[in-house]
Amino acid sequence: MKQLSIQKKIVLWFSAMLLIIVLLISAMTFAIAGSVLNENIRERLYDIVAVNVNEIEYWNRLTDTEAEPGDQFLKYENGWLEIDDDFCDVFEGISTALYDADGNLLYGNMPIKISSSKLLAFTKIGKTDYKGETYYVYDKPLTAEGLEGLWVRGVISQNESVNILYNVVRLSFWLLPALALLAVLGGYIITRRSFLPVEQIAKSAEEIGKGGDLSKRLDIGSGNDEIHMLADTFNEMFARLENNFNAEKQFTSDASHELRTPVSVILAQAQYALEFAETPEEYREALEVIERQGNRMGDIISQLLFFTRLAQGTETVNKEEVCLSALVEEACAEQKMLPQEDRKNISLICDVSPDVYALTDRSLLTLCLNNLISNAYKYGKENGHIRVSLCRDTDKILISVKDDGIGISPENLPKIWERFYQADSSRSADINERGLGLGLSMVSQICKLLDITAEVNSTLGEGSEFTLEF
Ligand code: ADP
Repeated sequence: MKQLSIQKKIVLWFSAMLLIIVLLISAMTFAIAGSVLNENIRERLYDIVAVNVNEIEYWNRLTDTEAEPGDQFLKYENGWLEIDDDFCDVFEGISTALYDADGNLLYGNMPIKISSSKLLAFTKIGKTDYKGETYYVYDKPLTAEGLEGLWVRGVISQNESVNILYNVVRLSFWLLPALALLAVLGGYIITRRSFLPVEQIAKSAEEIGKGGDLSKRLDIGSGNDEIHMLADTFNEMFARLENNFNAEKQFTSDASHELRTPVSVILAQAQYALEFAETPEEYREALEVIERQGNRMGDIISQLLFFTRLAQGTETVNKEEVCLSALVEEACAEQKMLPQEDRKNISLICDVSPDVYALTDRSLLTLCLNNLISNAYKYGKENGHIRVSLCRDTDKILISVKDDGIGISPENLPKIWERFYQADSSRSADINERGLGLGLSMVSQICKLLDITAEVNSTLGEGSEFTLEF
């Protein structure tokens, strides 16, 4: 039993229960039906005789009658008997007849003969046998004026009830098992269809477990039942797994690709120093290059980890009411503190409207601004200008970082937001001075996270303007 699937267990249980119920109901039906039918036949006999008695009237003269077509008239003593056409001599197996005091049949139909000693002997319903068959008999004397001495007898064969019982038995014999079979079949189909998605879920989970396709989703159609809810939850889990897996894959591939250059530089410097360096200055020079490359590797790893956390959704976003005016001013002040050689004698103008607030994440937005301003320094021209402005329009807030540096060519403009993209490496010939190509990609990811639109306007040789729109 333990080896059976849930579906089979349910179907088996319901089939067994249904069989027991059908058998019990059939037994009870047969037991009760017999007595109920007998009782019912007696009642019908009683009622029909009582009705027929009321359909007989006595008239002194024929001319007094209000005869309707179908009414019968019999000569009786000094007058006439009117038998209404509603008198049922044979109805639903019950035969009725009218007798006089001597037992002569005056009107009606009587399938059995009862000895003359039993005239008007069944004023209470009784049984009598005739030609091997049992009959119920009921006699009722007529009491209306002129009808004294007359009586009506009704009979019905007990076989009538047996016939009906036989029909009930025959019907139950086919109908109950047919209904039970239908119920079992319906139950089987419903449980099968309900459990089919479970099999699918198990199969997909197994495939994914074996290192199969993480982009696979359970497609079990639409529905609101528990199984569909389970499938939706699984799909959400698969999506998260796929996302995390892809983010980690991306990290591994980016890291191995981007760390290759600094690692080669470090190895080359180390080999050079070991083989050719003689003076402490030459060793020092080599160590400085190694240190810079080490720092660069550190930067690459921490920025890549930041991207991975963003993609996995584990980088927390703490939105709060932030005073943008103060935040932009602080970012400018911080950048002004960079070493003189990084600032290329560029003057930074901070043009900030006071008291501008927004619901955003303080540290992520600062990271964004720092990236934009340090790019403006990096790609700005010697003795040039950078203008950082914050202003509020009717329905939006704008932060802009504008420089008069080298600018970006139109064909490179769409690509600058891509990961590791650097417009023109030749523009910054010294490998040590080069960025990572991750700054703007990070800006675009953060903006997506904070619902900010980031745009750039740039003319090659004239300068660029980056705008953040809240
Ligand atoms: P990087 O580390 O190279 O600065 P970013 O992602 O910050 O990487 O920028 C990508 C590329 O976009 C840069 O290599 C540069 O060519 C171009 N770029 C970014 N900011 C500016 C700017 N203010 N002026 C001109 N070019 C820019």
